[in-house]
Amino acid sequence: MTSVNLCEFCNKPFEVLRTRKRFCSASCSASWKWEHNPPRRLSFPRLGVMLTQQKTKIFDKIAAAGDEGISSRELLGVSSGSLGILSKRLKTHIHAINELLEETDYVIKSDGIGQPYKLQLRDPKPEPSGRRAKLIQMSRQWIATHQA
Ligand SMILES: [Zn+2]
Repeated sequence: MTSVNLCEFCNKPFEVLRTRKRFCSASCSASWKWEHNPPRRLSFPRLGVMLTQQKTKIFDKIAAAGDEGISSRELLGVSSGSLGILSKRLKTHIHAINELLEETDYVIKSDGIGQPYKLQLRDPKPEPSGRRAKLIQMSRQWIATHQA
């Protein structure tokens, strides 16, 4: 004995399961929940890129520090004694922020260990040359001819 219900999200008929009575699929269930109960806003736009709350905090502090930059200790708000593990975590965050900023003209840089972090204009990428340039050109052509 199977019974059929209309999905409350997409209105399609679906076979009722013991574990799923109101929605035809997990994605409809998730979509319905999203619409009726949107999760707390956890992303913030910076330079046109969405950052999580924690990354936004880090980004804002570095951006506010300007040309002087800001040290790991100041960023983390800890005394130098307890820096170790935290500054590793910070590095991971900054690396992730930089990956997100890749499409922008900005990058977070530090001149070395113990040096302050700064938000800087990215150096223009050197034009690829030789074999690499040829490969890039070939892949662009391939993409152009394979895109409908
Ligand atoms: Zn559905």
